[in-house]
Amino acid sequence: MAKSSIRYDCSKCPGYCCSYDRIEVKDSDVKRIAKHFGVTVEEAERKYFRWYTPDERILKHRKDEIYGSICRFFDRDERHCTIYKARPAVCRSYPNGNKCGYYDFLVFERKHQDDDEFIPSA
Ligand code: SF4
Ligand code: SF4
Repeated sequence: MAKSSIRYDCSKCPGYCCSYDRIEVKDSDVKRIAKHFGVTVEEAERKYFRWYTPDERILKHRKDEIYGSICRFFDRDERHCTIYKARPAVCRSYPNGNKCGYYDFLVFERKHQDDDEFIPSA
């Protein structure tokens, strides 16, 4: 997809999609993230992920002022991913198209509130 067709700007969003409870992490993601931090796969498993079901491994969260909780790799002050180059495949493919529903909602509300910083509760 051509970059110019992208109709959302993550730099203007406080990272809503990183607050999803279940962000799946595959084996290949674990290996890449372990390498990124220079730790073993076992150490990465223990520190960064948890099993939601026996078949689904997800990113651990921590508290967040805006969304209640958010991915542990999210910088809560700067509002961006701290492992962008090593992030899981599911984060790379999101939002799976040239539009993001939350971004549209954000733009709509900011326009109507006449406040470029406004963050509606989702
Ligand atoms: S919710 Fe949409 S605009 Fe916000 S960070 Fe995620 S993809 Fe970007
Ligand atoms: S790894 Fe990065 S892009 Fe993926 S949810 Fe966490 S902070 Fe967001």
